[in-house]
Amino acid sequence: MLRKNWLLAAILWFVAAAVAIAAPPYKVLIVDGQNLHDWKGTTPVLKQILEETGLFQVDVATSPPKGADMSGFKPNFAAYHAVVSNYQGDPWPEETKQALVDYVKNGGGLVIFHFACAAFPDWKEYNEMIGLGGWGGRNEKWGPYVRWRDGKFVRDTSPGKAGGHGPMQPFQLVVRNAEHPITKGLPEKFMHVPDELYGWLRGPAENLTVLATAFAPKEKGGADEHEPILFTVNYGKGRVFQNALGHTAKELKSVAFIVTFQRGVEWAASGKVTQKLPDDFPTADEATVRP
Ligand code: ZN
Repeated sequence: MLRKNWLLAAILWFVAAAVAIAAPPYKVLIVDGQNLHDWKGTTPVLKQILEETGLFQVDVATSPPKGADMSGFKPNFAAYHAVVSNYQGDPWPEETKQALVDYVKNGGGLVIFHFACAAFPDWKEYNEMIGLGGWGGRNEKWGPYVRWRDGKFVRDTSPGKAGGHGPMQPFQLVVRNAEHPITKGLPEKFMHVPDELYGWLRGPAENLTVLATAFAPKEKGGADEHEPILFTVNYGKGRVFQNALGHTAKELKSVAFIVTFQRGVEWAASGKVTQKLPDDFPTADEATVRP
Protein backbone atom coordinates (compact mmCIF):
# COMPACT_ATOMS: atom_id res chain seq x y z
CA MET A 1 0.00 0.00 0.00
CA LEU A 2 2.77 2.35 1.00
CA ARG A 3 4.55 1.58 -2.23
CA LYS A 4 1.42 2.36 -4.27
CA ASN A 5 1.06 5.73 -2.56
CA TRP A 6 4.65 6.55 -3.35
CA LEU A 7 4.09 5.68 -6.98
CA LEU A 8 0.93 7.77 -7.14
CA ALA A 9 2.69 10.72 -5.51
CA ALA A 10 5.56 10.43 -7.96
CA ILE A 11 3.18 10.37 -10.93
CA LEU A 12 1.27 13.37 -9.63
CA TRP A 13 4.53 15.23 -9.08
CA PHE A 14 5.63 14.57 -12.65
CA VAL A 15 2.28 15.71 -14.04
CA ALA A 16 2.37 18.88 -11.95
CA ALA A 17 5.95 19.58 -13.01
CA ALA A 18 5.10 19.01 -16.67
CA VAL A 19 2.16 21.41 -16.45
CA ALA A 20 4.33 23.96 -14.67
CA ILE A 21 6.97 23.72 -17.38
CA ALA A 22 4.43 23.92 -20.21
CA ALA A 23 2.35 26.80 -18.87
CA PRO A 24 3.75 30.32 -19.32
CA PRO A 25 4.43 31.80 -15.89
CA TYR A 26 2.69 35.15 -16.44
CA LYS A 27 -0.85 36.08 -17.39
CA VAL A 28 -1.16 39.35 -19.28
CA LEU A 29 -4.24 41.35 -20.24
CA ILE A 30 -4.15 43.74 -23.19
CA VAL A 31 -6.86 46.40 -22.96
CA ASP A 32 -8.06 48.04 -26.19
CA GLY A 33 -11.30 48.97 -27.98
CA GLN A 34 -10.82 52.68 -28.66
CA ASN A 35 -7.76 54.59 -29.83
CA LEU A 36 -7.06 57.26 -32.43
CA HIS A 37 -4.47 54.72 -33.57
CA ASP A 38 -4.94 51.39 -35.38
CA TRP A 39 -5.46 49.28 -32.25
CA LYS A 40 -7.01 46.49 -34.31
CA GLY A 41 -3.73 46.25 -36.20
CA THR A 42 -1.37 46.49 -33.22
CA THR A 43 -3.05 44.42 -30.48
CA PRO A 44 -2.62 41.03 -32.28
CA VAL A 45 1.05 41.87 -32.90
CA LEU A 46 1.62 42.85 -29.26
CA LYS A 47 0.00 39.57 -28.21
CA GLN A 48 2.21 37.55 -30.55
CA ILE A 49 5.39 39.38 -29.51
CA LEU A 50 4.64 38.48 -25.89
CA GLU A 51 3.55 34.89 -26.44
CA GLU A 52 6.57 34.00 -28.58
CA THR A 53 8.76 34.43 -25.49
CA GLY A 54 7.00 31.49 -23.82
CA LEU A 55 6.69 33.67 -20.72
CA PHE A 56 3.21 35.05 -21.20
CA GLN A 57 -0.31 33.87 -21.75
CA VAL A 58 -2.20 36.84 -23.16
CA ASP A 59 -5.90 37.72 -23.05
CA VAL A 60 -7.50 40.78 -24.63
CA ALA A 61 -10.28 42.93 -23.12
CA THR A 62 -11.94 45.09 -25.78
CA SER A 63 -14.13 47.99 -24.62
CA PRO A 64 -17.37 49.06 -26.27
CA PRO A 65 -16.86 51.48 -29.20
CA LYS A 66 -16.69 55.25 -28.83
CA GLY A 67 -19.92 56.76 -27.53
CA ALA A 68 -21.44 53.41 -26.53
CA ASP A 69 -22.53 52.48 -23.00
CA MET A 70 -19.32 51.76 -21.07
CA SER A 71 -20.97 50.77 -17.77
CA GLY A 72 -20.47 47.03 -18.32
CA PHE A 73 -16.76 47.28 -19.12
CA LYS A 74 -15.12 45.69 -16.07
CA PRO A 75 -11.98 43.70 -16.92
CA ASN A 76 -10.74 41.56 -14.02
CA PHE A 77 -7.32 43.25 -13.75
CA ALA A 78 -6.54 41.43 -10.49
CA ALA A 79 -6.42 38.08 -12.31
CA TYR A 80 -3.29 39.16 -14.25
CA HIS A 81 0.39 39.69 -13.57
CA ALA A 82 0.46 42.62 -16.00
CA VAL A 83 -2.02 44.81 -17.86
CA VAL A 84 -0.94 46.35 -21.18
CA SER A 85 -2.90 49.41 -22.26
CA ASN A 86 -3.45 49.96 -25.97
CA TYR A 87 -6.45 52.14 -25.05
CA GLN A 88 -7.19 55.81 -25.59
CA GLY A 89 -10.80 56.94 -25.67
CA ASP A 90 -13.94 57.41 -23.62
CA PRO A 91 -13.62 57.46 -19.82
CA TRP A 92 -14.14 54.15 -18.03
CA PRO A 93 -16.75 53.66 -15.28
CA GLU A 94 -15.57 54.77 -11.82
CA GLU A 95 -15.58 51.17 -10.62
CA THR A 96 -13.22 50.12 -13.45
CA LYS A 97 -10.91 53.07 -12.85
CA GLN A 98 -10.73 52.27 -9.14
CA ALA A 99 -10.08 48.60 -9.92
CA LEU A 100 -7.04 49.52 -12.02
CA VAL A 101 -5.69 51.88 -9.36
CA ASP A 102 -6.15 49.24 -6.64
CA TYR A 103 -4.57 46.60 -8.87
CA VAL A 104 -1.41 48.64 -9.41
CA LYS A 105 -1.25 49.89 -5.80
CA ASN A 106 -1.41 46.29 -4.60
CA GLY A 107 1.55 45.23 -6.71
CA GLY A 108 0.21 44.79 -10.24
CA GLY A 109 2.12 45.62 -13.40
CA LEU A 110 0.91 48.20 -15.92
CA VAL A 111 2.42 48.81 -19.35
CA ILE A 112 1.56 51.94 -21.32
CA PHE A 113 2.02 51.40 -25.05
CA HIS A 114 2.54 54.39 -27.38
CA PHE A 115 -0.66 56.50 -27.59
CA ALA A 116 -2.12 55.08 -24.37
CA CYS A 117 -0.14 57.94 -22.80
CA ALA A 118 -2.80 60.26 -24.26
CA ALA A 119 -5.70 58.52 -22.52
CA PHE A 120 -7.69 59.86 -19.57
CA PRO A 121 -6.26 63.39 -19.23
CA ASP A 122 -8.72 64.17 -16.42
CA TRP A 123 -8.06 61.03 -14.34
CA LYS A 124 -5.65 62.11 -11.60
CA GLU A 125 -4.45 58.65 -10.58
CA TYR A 126 -3.90 57.64 -14.21
CA ASN A 127 -1.58 60.60 -14.70
CA GLU A 128 0.25 59.62 -11.51
CA MET A 129 0.58 56.01 -12.62
CA ILE A 130 1.88 56.79 -16.11
CA GLY A 131 4.21 59.54 -14.88
CA LEU A 132 4.30 61.44 -18.18
CA GLY A 133 1.56 61.79 -20.78
CA GLY A 134 0.59 63.91 -23.76
CA TRP A 135 -2.26 65.37 -25.79
CA GLY A 136 -5.88 65.44 -24.54
CA GLY A 137 -5.51 69.12 -23.60
CA ARG A 138 -2.61 68.44 -21.22
CA ASN A 139 -0.23 71.34 -20.47
CA GLU A 140 1.98 72.66 -17.64
CA LYS A 141 -0.87 72.18 -15.15
CA TRP A 142 -0.28 68.43 -15.51
CA GLY A 143 3.35 68.67 -14.41
CA PRO A 144 6.86 69.23 -15.75
CA TYR A 145 8.77 67.98 -18.76
CA VAL A 146 11.58 65.65 -17.73
CA ARG A 147 14.77 66.75 -19.48
CA TRP A 148 18.27 65.29 -19.75
CA ARG A 149 20.60 68.24 -19.32
CA ASP A 150 24.29 68.38 -18.36
CA GLY A 151 24.40 64.68 -17.63
CA LYS A 152 21.33 64.45 -15.41
CA PHE A 153 17.56 64.53 -15.47
CA VAL A 154 15.83 67.74 -14.45
CA ARG A 155 12.20 68.78 -14.17
CA ASP A 156 11.33 71.63 -16.51
CA THR A 157 8.18 73.42 -15.38
CA SER A 158 8.11 75.99 -18.18
CA PRO A 159 4.65 76.42 -19.73
CA GLY A 160 3.77 74.69 -22.96
CA LYS A 161 2.01 71.87 -24.70
CA ALA A 162 2.17 68.23 -23.70
CA GLY A 163 2.72 65.74 -26.48
CA GLY A 164 3.94 66.20 -30.04
CA HIS A 165 6.21 64.78 -32.70
CA GLY A 166 7.72 65.58 -36.08
CA PRO A 167 7.38 63.42 -39.20
CA MET A 168 8.30 59.73 -39.03
CA GLN A 169 12.07 59.42 -38.71
CA PRO A 170 14.63 56.81 -37.75
CA PHE A 171 16.16 57.51 -34.35
CA GLN A 172 18.63 56.19 -31.84
CA LEU A 173 17.78 55.27 -28.29
CA VAL A 174 20.34 56.04 -25.60
CA VAL A 175 20.25 54.03 -22.39
CA ARG A 176 20.35 56.39 -19.38
CA ASN A 177 20.04 53.71 -16.71
CA ALA A 178 22.02 50.55 -17.39
CA GLU A 179 21.29 49.02 -13.96
CA HIS A 180 17.54 48.63 -14.35
CA PRO A 181 16.45 45.04 -15.18
CA ILE A 182 14.78 46.21 -18.43
CA THR A 183 17.89 47.86 -19.84
CA LYS A 184 20.64 45.88 -18.10
CA GLY A 185 22.88 44.27 -20.73
CA LEU A 186 21.54 46.33 -23.63
CA PRO A 187 24.07 48.28 -25.70
CA GLU A 188 24.25 51.92 -24.61
CA LYS A 189 22.94 53.10 -27.99
CA PHE A 190 20.66 51.32 -30.45
CA MET A 191 18.67 52.30 -33.53
CA HIS A 192 14.92 52.11 -34.08
CA VAL A 193 13.13 52.13 -37.46
CA PRO A 194 11.36 55.28 -38.76
CA ASP A 195 8.61 56.01 -36.24
CA GLU A 196 7.02 58.87 -34.37
CA LEU A 197 9.50 60.32 -31.89
CA TYR A 198 7.26 61.31 -29.00
CA GLY A 199 8.18 64.59 -27.37
CA TRP A 200 7.03 67.18 -24.86
CA LEU A 201 5.45 64.55 -22.59
CA ARG A 202 4.60 65.96 -19.18
CA GLY A 203 2.94 64.83 -15.99
CA PRO A 204 3.48 64.44 -12.24
CA ALA A 205 6.65 62.40 -12.94
CA GLU A 206 6.78 61.16 -9.33
CA ASN A 207 8.86 58.05 -8.60
CA LEU A 208 9.84 58.05 -12.26
CA THR A 209 12.98 56.47 -13.71
CA VAL A 210 13.94 57.25 -17.29
CA LEU A 211 15.60 54.21 -18.87
CA ALA A 212 16.24 55.55 -22.38
CA THR A 213 15.93 58.78 -24.32
CA ALA A 214 16.03 59.76 -28.00
CA PHE A 215 17.21 63.10 -29.31
CA ALA A 216 14.53 65.00 -31.26
CA PRO A 217 16.23 67.62 -33.46
CA LYS A 218 14.41 70.85 -34.21
CA GLU A 219 14.91 70.47 -37.96
CA LYS A 220 12.93 67.24 -37.77
CA GLY A 221 10.04 68.72 -35.82
CA GLY A 222 11.41 68.07 -32.35
CA ALA A 223 12.21 70.16 -29.28
CA ASP A 224 16.01 69.79 -29.59
CA GLU A 225 15.83 67.75 -26.41
CA HIS A 226 16.58 64.19 -25.34
CA GLU A 227 13.02 62.87 -25.04
CA PRO A 228 12.15 60.14 -22.50
CA ILE A 229 11.05 57.12 -24.57
CA LEU A 230 11.33 54.22 -22.11
CA PHE A 231 10.59 54.88 -18.45
CA THR A 232 9.15 53.34 -15.32
CA VAL A 233 7.05 54.56 -12.42
CA ASN A 234 6.75 52.96 -9.00
CA TYR A 235 3.18 53.41 -7.83
CA GLY A 236 2.29 51.89 -4.47
CA LYS A 237 3.61 48.34 -4.63
CA GLY A 238 3.09 48.28 -8.39
CA ARG A 239 5.35 48.69 -11.38
CA VAL A 240 4.50 50.79 -14.43
CA PHE A 241 6.50 50.72 -17.66
CA GLN A 242 5.94 53.08 -20.56
CA ASN A 243 7.17 52.43 -24.10
CA ALA A 244 6.51 55.38 -26.43
CA LEU A 245 7.51 53.50 -29.61
CA GLY A 246 5.19 51.81 -32.11
CA HIS A 247 2.83 53.96 -34.20
CA THR A 248 1.49 51.05 -36.30
CA ALA A 249 2.07 47.31 -36.70
CA LYS A 250 4.87 48.12 -39.17
CA GLU A 251 7.00 49.81 -36.49
CA LEU A 252 6.40 46.86 -34.16
CA LYS A 253 8.70 44.79 -36.39
CA SER A 254 11.64 46.79 -35.06
CA VAL A 255 13.76 44.66 -32.75
CA ALA A 256 14.35 47.77 -30.63
CA PHE A 257 10.62 47.80 -29.91
CA ILE A 258 10.13 44.04 -29.63
CA VAL A 259 12.90 43.50 -27.10
CA THR A 260 12.19 46.54 -24.92
CA PHE A 261 8.49 45.66 -24.89
CA GLN A 262 9.06 41.98 -24.02
CA ARG A 263 11.49 42.91 -21.25
CA GLY A 264 9.28 45.74 -19.97
CA VAL A 265 6.25 43.48 -19.67
CA GLU A 266 8.26 40.81 -17.83
CA TRP A 267 9.52 43.44 -15.41
CA ALA A 268 6.02 44.86 -14.91
CA ALA A 269 4.72 41.35 -14.25
CA SER A 270 7.46 40.18 -11.92
CA GLY A 271 10.00 42.86 -11.05
CA LYS A 272 12.75 40.98 -12.88
CA VAL A 273 13.90 40.20 -16.41
CA THR A 274 15.15 36.74 -17.34
CA GLN A 275 15.25 37.21 -21.13
CA LYS A 276 18.60 37.16 -22.89
CA LEU A 277 19.56 39.75 -25.45
CA PRO A 278 18.91 38.29 -28.94
CA ASP A 279 21.58 38.15 -31.65
CA ASP A 280 19.58 40.43 -33.95
CA PHE A 281 19.48 43.34 -31.49
CA PRO A 282 20.22 46.63 -33.31
CA THR A 283 23.54 48.44 -33.12
CA ALA A 284 24.20 52.13 -32.54
CA ASP A 285 24.03 52.74 -36.31
CA GLU A 286 21.67 50.17 -37.72
CA ALA A 287 18.07 49.25 -36.88
CA THR A 288 16.97 45.64 -37.28
CA VAL A 289 13.56 44.25 -38.13
CA ARG A 290 11.87 40.86 -37.97
CA PRO A 291 9.55 39.55 -40.69
ZN1 ZN B 1 1.33 57.29 -33.13
